[in-house]
Order: sequence, then C-alpha cells, then structure tokens
Amino acid sequence: MTIDLRSDTVTKPTPAMLEAMFKAEVGDDVSGDDPTVNALEEKATRLFGKEAALFCPSGTMTNQLAIRTHTRPGDDVICDQLSHVYQYEGGGIAVNALASVTLTQGKFGKLTPELVRDSIQPDDVHRPLTRLVCLENTVNKGGGCYYTLPEIRAIREVCDQNGLILHLDGARLFNALVETGETPLEHGQLFDSISICLSKGLGCPVGSLLLGTRDVVKQARRYRKVMGGGWRQAGYLAAAGIYALDHHVDRLKEDHRRAKAIEPMLKALPEVDAIYPIDTNIVIFRLSETVLATDYVQQLAQKGIRCSVFGKHLVRFVTHLDFTDDHLAELQKRLA
Ligand SMILES: *Cc1c(COP(=O)(O)O)cnc(C)c1O
Repeated sequence: MTIDLRSDTVTKPTPAMLEAMFKAEVGDDVSGDDPTVNALEEKATRLFGKEAALFCPSGTMTNQLAIRTHTRPGDDVICDQLSHVYQYEGGGIAVNALASVTLTQGKFGKLTPELVRDSIQPDDVHRPLTRLVCLENTVNKGGGCYYTLPEIRAIREVCDQNGLILHLDGARLFNALVETGETPLEHGQLFDSISICLSKGLGCPVGSLLLGTRDVVKQARRYRKVMGGGWRQAGYLAAAGIYALDHHVDRLKEDHRRAKAIEPMLKALPEVDAIYPIDTNIVIFRLSETVLATDYVQQLAQKGIRCSVFGKHLVRFVTHLDFTDDHLAELQKRLA
C-alpha cells in the first residue's frame, strides 16, 4: 500500500461520483449550452450569494482570470509572500495581467488590516497603482491555517476605505468553513471575487469555479477563451462538482482529524524540529538543520510514504479523501 500525502489533488473519483459523471447531460459549454455546467455555475452562485460563476479547469486559471480582470497593466497587487498566486502560478500576475506585486510578510501567510494598509502605494508618479488585494483561505504554505469572518471584515474595511478590490483564493475555503461553522454566503458578501477548487479536498478529478459579479465573470469568460480554456462537453466534469458540493463538504472534518492524528507521530521523531499548528488538512514540519527536505522525502518514499518538499528543511503532508484510517495506522508503523 502506498501512502500518498503529496497533495489533496491525488484523489480519484469515488464510484458514486463516477456514476454521477456518466449520467450527466452535456452540451457545448463554449456556446453556453451544457446544462450540467450551467447547473453547477448556478448552484455555486446561489451558495455564495454572488451574481455569476465560471467553471474552469484549474484554480490557477480562476485566480489568474480574476487578477487579469480586476487590474490594468502597471497596477499593483497586494498579496502575502507565501501566497499561491505569487509562488505557484508561474509568475502569472506578471505574464497574464502585466501587474506588479507588493508582498506582505504575514504570520503563516495571513494578511492583516495593518499589513494591507502599509502595502498600499502612495499616490506618486514613481509608483504603481494599488488596485487589488488577494487573500488565501486556507493558507497552503501557512500550514492550512484559516481566517475567521471578523478578520476578513477588518481587511474588507481597509479595501473599502482605499477603493481596493478584494479577491479570495479559496482553493481550500471549505476546509476553513467546516472548522469555523461559517457559511459560503457570509464569505461571499465580503469578496469581489472568489476562486474555489473542486479538485482538492472535495475530491473531483478536475475543476475550479470563479465567482463574482456578472460583469467580472463575463470578462473572465472572454479571457478564459483567450487562454484556450473554453471547453466543450465539460458537463461530465461539472457533474462531479455538483456531486462533491452535495456529498464531500462535511466529511472534510475527517481529513482534519487524521491530520491532527499525525502530529504525535511526528513529535516522536528525533529529526523533526517543529510542526506548524495543524488547523485543517495540511501538516508542515521542519527538520533539524542537518537534514535536507529533499533527502528526507526520498527516504520516506523508500518506505512507501509520498510527500512534498516545502522548503530547504520543510516537508508537507496533506490528508484527503483517499487517505483512510487504515492508511493512518500504516503511516504510524512506517514512520516509527
Ligand atoms: C491548488 C491551489 C490552487 C490552484 O491550483 P490548481 O492546481 O491550478 O488547481 C490555488 N491556490 C491554492 C492555495 C492552492 O493550494
């Protein structure tokens, strides 16, 4: 048995999800007549209380479409140095939007009202024009930590006071919501646009959604076509998304419980120096100075444990739908 903790993207569709996919009614989504894509977009629109939604192949695409739509060339985007939009999207802010960034150094990658306020460029001809703030929830590189509504409201206020647009990279937003008990509707109200991933904890093979106003989504749909992201009978994939929103949200708590159960296993290892707080389904730990993460990850692979290098001495485990209690017990044996 391989224990695959590289990411929550490694999951395969469950038999019930596959059945929903096989049964999907489909059409040509570029023409707007795939009924299952339309149903998914309408479902998400209602869930978050937004005006419109756009189904896309990846979270990178939904984030990049949002950034491109919200900015003009030469604008400045505020995001944390750990953020996915900056670290893991191939420099897309520069490539797709021709925008620059001001990076914050938040605790575990989280923005605060003060950090946002201090990152706004002065009204000066030398400077780019601050236009957009990107917040990530949960924060991947922050060990899966999350924001609560009051924290976000305070950031929203700074945005409102300064005429800034607020985008959420909510690739793992549902992991945050099952912990806080807050609703998509409450979060929907606070952001100009939201990107959510269906292919992470929710267990779909493919898919992300961009939510926003009718105008933003209409423009994003144009840019999606430009990027070659206009797809045809995507309803087979949208059916997986509908199934996941109905059946795979509450169970995220199980992934969190299993992530937490890994903590004592790591604490017992002499080569592990520190473990980030485990709030959701991500476990990041620091190895002692003498152990390189690249070597360590290779050693674990030889024991049938797959995971990710997350820095020179940092390693990441992510729990997910296909990581069961049996895998957890086996992990304990192999780590010991
Ligand atoms: C995975 C992820 C994305 C999107 O990734 P894709 O692989 O392009 O779907 C965006 N933001 C965060 C924080 C992520 O973890």
